[in-house]
Amino acid sequence: MSNLIQGKTGEWEIVIGLEVHAQVIAKSKLFSGSATTFGSDANTQVSLVDAAMPGMLPVINEYCIEQAVRTGLGLGAKINLTSVFERKNYFYADLPQGYQISQQEIPIVGEGEIEIELPDGTSRNIGIERLHMEQDAGKSIHDKHPTRSYIDLNRSGNCLMEIVSKPDMRSADEAMAYVAKLRAIVRALETCDGNMDEGSMRCDVNVSVRKIGDELGTRREVKNVNSIRSVGQAVDYEARDQIRMIEAGEKVTQQTMLFNADDSTTRPMRSKEDAHDYRYFPDPDLLPLVISQQYVDAINENLPELPDAKKHRFMQEYGMKLYDASIIAGDKPRAEYFERVAKGRDPKLSVTWVTTELMGALNKLALSIDKSPVSSEQLGELIDLISDNTISGRIAKDVFAEMLDTGKSASNIVEEKGLKQVTDTGALETLVDEVIAENPDVVANYQSGKDKLFGFFVGQVMKKTQGKANPAIVNELLKKKIG
Ligand code: ADP
Ligand code: MG
Repeated sequence: MSNLIQGKTGEWEIVIGLEVHAQVIAKSKLFSGSATTFGSDANTQVSLVDAAMPGMLPVINEYCIEQAVRTGLGLGAKINLTSVFERKNYFYADLPQGYQISQQEIPIVGEGEIEIELPDGTSRNIGIERLHMEQDAGKSIHDKHPTRSYIDLNRSGNCLMEIVSKPDMRSADEAMAYVAKLRAIVRALETCDGNMDEGSMRCDVNVSVRKIGDELGTRREVKNVNSIRSVGQAVDYEARDQIRMIEAGEKVTQQTMLFNADDSTTRPMRSKEDAHDYRYFPDPDLLPLVISQQYVDAINENLPELPDAKKHRFMQEYGMKLYDASIIAGDKPRAEYFERVAKGRDPKLSVTWVTTELMGALNKLALSIDKSPVSSEQLGELIDLISDNTISGRIAKDVFAEMLDTGKSASNIVEEKGLKQVTDTGALETLVDEVIAENPDVVANYQSGKDKLFGFFVGQVMKKTQGKANPAIVNELLKKKIG
């Protein structure tokens, strides 16, 4: 568990629902042919439609529909064969249309469910309320000039999927695990790149608190939280602040909050508006969106293996524990790395070396697996050396540390440093005899019933071989001689 606030804080229960905006991976925008490349020069990807020139007509991008349906299927959700685009009216300097085309009454995707895994090794299901498609707005830029603001419309009209959860989460850890799982799913589907630092996935965090057993409390909504860590911190701050308010006799009012990543606090941005404030109505420029069941089925048949399916397969095929499996299966490069290592090798060794040794080392170095100094082929070779008894598991750890440092191959290091395991029974027997002769007192103690001393003899033989003796042979010889 993290040290963030957890589900039951005394008599208080935290309730969290998340709205995640995920930008669809598509070459062009939802209703125009402009490009969507991230980081392009300002206002170089803006068509007359995106700039909302009078009389322009939106034309829907079929590829975006397919991506939304794929995502819905990946969330195990109901796909609505008819859905309706509506205008959500509001004023923003970076929204030249004066409204956003979104879906309100009938979204393209209805209810679904995803499974999340928690650091304590348990898992839970979290309900999905809906997924709808909508346009992104442009961006106001306030830090380029002392007295002027600028507007970049490159993002205007990009296709977003808004994925709304049910208020099913009960702790900061659950909220973070939910976002991580959602990101793993869209990445596996390749419908969104999930890069929160580039804004292609952003999260509105709704938090309320209640006494256990009571009705839902009034929520506050923290806008545009853009990392998983910040999601946890926003929940933490909101829960503490709301509990403090209620305990002081104040009332929580429905508000929209801003998150400040510098000190992990939130502050009010505006009083929260309700759906009717936006005067939603069906966009007269767009017909209802009608798709066929065959179209949905065809997309369904081509879905890749999703993180949950992969997770369960890793548990069955390789005997991974639930949490390890979710960490490996939840990240495509990690899963691919692991499967390259495990192919044709001992499952148990492969799991330990990837989940414990490699992941541990990468965490320490703060490196992602695609930047690993040890490739899957190199790690595989190291495991082969353990499996064929060339080196012991103990020595393998030293070799691995050296591999991380130097990038050299396992066999080179073993060769250079003369680390080959001693499996010559004759040579080992001589050493065992020496150890016994040198320690008559310990032998006597051991034979009088102090079983634990057995390890001492193994250790002494290891010392004489700089750790290179084959432990199984040493054990066997010692048992024969003194056991
Ligand atoms: P809006 O779009 O106006 O923000 P929604 O009804 O779509 O409102 O709900 C948005 C999110 O708020 C959903 O994820 C939902 O689960 C969550 N939510 C609703 N009520 C509560 C509550 N009392 N506490 C925490 N989260 C809530
Ligand atoms: Mg909202």
